[in-house]
Amino acid sequence: MFIRIHPWFNLVVTRNNDAIARLCPACGLCCNGVLFGDVELQRGDDAKQLAGLGVDLFRKGRKTAFPQPCSCFDGRLCGIYADRPKQCRAFECGLLRRVHAGKLTAGAALKTIAEARRSAEVVLRLVRELGSADEAKPLNQRYAEVAAQPIDMSASTAEVERRGELMMAVAKLVQFLERNFRT
Ligand code: SF4
Ligand code: SF4
Repeated sequence: MFIRIHPWFNLVVTRNNDAIARLCPACGLCCNGVLFGDVELQRGDDAKQLAGLGVDLFRKGRKTAFPQPCSCFDGRLCGIYADRPKQCRAFECGLLRRVHAGKLTAGAALKTIAEARRSAEVVLRLVRELGSADEAKPLNQRYAEVAAQPIDMSASTAEVERRGELMMAVAKLVQFLERNFRT
């Protein structure tokens, strides 16, 4: 059967795909452990197929999930884009939504992405400097582990200052992500 697609619909889809192609490879925050700690599979996702494609699945209560940073993320793109799970297909961050709705230009969105990535890099550098070495964990977990360590009063002034710097950097990052990326 031949299905006729309304030309306006076609135009919108093309524009939306253009925005995704331009913004997402420059961003990656919803795959690299900055925005999310894990992603739950949905009804209809094929866990066996996903595991075969390299998705690192684990049991999360009664659900199946995979951790972030995602094992299929190469730092820029999704390695299993055509077969990605449902949540990944459905997700559209607040920034992308505003671009799709014509409320924000792609250029302005790219600047926001660059700023978010810079803020996340500061937090990442600080947690590493404060002893967090497991790069497979999401950023919020790494921060929580560092923050939970008792303050060593005999530690150098530099280390105590670094902890303060980390708290401020996290507050700034969370606020920025809430304002620009959450839906
Ligand atoms: S957070 Fe938004 S802009 Fe960034 S990769 Fe995800 S969907 Fe794309
Ligand atoms: S499967 Fe692909 S889209 Fe989903 S989190 Fe992993 S890299 Fe991102």
